[in-house]
Parts: sequence; structure tokens; C-alpha cells
Amino acid sequence: MITDYHIHTKMCGHATGDLEDYLAVAIRDGLEEIGFSDHLPLYFLPPAAIPVGYAMTEADLPVYVDAVQRLQETSPVRVKLGVEADYVPGCESKLEKLLKAYPFDYVIGSVHFIDGWSFDNQEEIDRYSQWDIWELYERYFTLIQQAAMTGLFDIMAHPDLIKKFNYLPSQDLMPLYEDTVQIFKRAGVCMEVNTAGLRCPVQEIYPAPGFLRAAFSQGVEVTLGSDAHHPEQVGAGLPEAVNFLKAAGYSEIASFKRRDRIINNML
Ligand SMILES: [Zn+2]
Ligand SMILES: [Zn+2]
Repeated sequence: MITDYHIHTKMCGHATGDLEDYLAVAIRDGLEEIGFSDHLPLYFLPPAAIPVGYAMTEADLPVYVDAVQRLQETSPVRVKLGVEADYVPGCESKLEKLLKAYPFDYVIGSVHFIDGWSFDNQEEIDRYSQWDIWELYERYFTLIQQAAMTGLFDIMAHPDLIKKFNYLPSQDLMPLYEDTVQIFKRAGVCMEVNTAGLRCPVQEIYPAPGFLRAAFSQGVEVTLGSDAHHPEQVGAGLPEAVNFLKAAGYSEIASFKRRDRIINNML
């Protein structure tokens, strides 16, 4: 089975297309199962400080859940109700409350912010020059490790998103990868193989090959996602991702139902 578990819609404010437009591409391209994972409202900010165009609003969230559930009833492709939730230290109980209010099939945990800096945003790219890149990587990996350990997430999104703009340290990253996959394994989270990196300056799938090999050797399970922000991006790069997984030793991918994990043979 091949799935695409990371799909956004226009509800988040920075993607185009309705749920139906994304589903139409999945049907056309013969995907067996997809999951929507639009951005959870920025629960960690005071309402007045929430920027427009990053995530769904609080008012949108129940509308999104309803719309996905309606689609599930008629779709010829299996549709899952997922969500992509930011991890921000200190705001765990707020997040837990929000997640419990809806019957999600899975929750993807992401780190897009480091101390309020939206480091994957092209408009904030000048802030990389204020960092020692190795220290930045250490900080980022510490955050994804902490996120995994909260127990609030099923899947860790684009696990080395920090490489997006090609700011790469000269140091060997394997020790960071190895520590991280050990924590993922202990925390029982899946690692996402996310093809959006192929469309970014780094031009590489998240995670890096060594990171994926480390995950395989620890027995960390994986999910697949295109991170589509446009209907035509549904399934984008998944054939490459499957080859990449096989080269690292993987033959299985995980899917989810009401936050229970199912292991499937990858075709
Ligand atoms: Zn997005
Ligand atoms: Zn993301």
C-alpha cells in the first residue's frame, strides 16, 4: 500500500484548493489511501498575536473535521482525518486538550518554530546568519526529541526540516540522528518520509539518507507524505520515497485509524 498522509488545503491560509480537489488527484492517480493533515490552529499564541496564513483558525477546525468526515462517507479512496500540530515547549496541556476534542486518525507533530522564529519561512531566512549552524541543528533536534517524548504525536513530520534552505553544518550529523531515532523508538512515534524537501532548495527528501538508515536500524516505523499545498502535489515524489525507503531496508509503512497504528506491506 502507498499512502499520502500529509496534505494541506486552502483552510490553512497558505495552500490552494478544497478537500475535493486534492481527493480528485488521489483518485486520478490511483492512491489507495490519503490523509488530510491541515495545520492545527496556533494554540500556543495569544489570540491577538496569531498571524494570518499559517494555520487554520479555531473557528475553521470543526469545519475542517466535519468536511473530512463527510468526504470519508462517499470517497472511493480511503480518507483519514489527520492534523499537523506544532510543538512548542510549555504548551503541551493546551495542545492535549485541543487534540482530545476531535476524533483524529493521526496527529503529525512538527517543529516549525524555534523560540518564535519561523525558520522554514522564506521571509525569515536572514535569521540563519545569526546562528552557529551546528548549534542551530542541536537546538532543532532537541526540540523534535522533546516533541516525540510528549506522547501527543503519532508521527514526527519532516524530521530534518532545518536543512530546508541548505544551511548545513560541517560536522557529522550521524550522532544527532542516532540519538533522535533512539528517542523516537522509545517514544513509539513513527518518522515521516516527506517529499517536500525535493521541492525546496535542499532538494532532498526529509529525512536525509543517514537519518533514515539510523531509523531503520532502530526499528522506527515510517509514514509517507507529500506535504501537498496544491492539489497537483498529491502523491508528488512518492515513487522516489518508496525507492529511498527500500534502499534503507524498509518494506513496510504505517497507517492509522483513530490513532491506532496498522503496519502494511509497501508495494
Ligand atoms: Zn503548510
Ligand atoms: Zn510542516
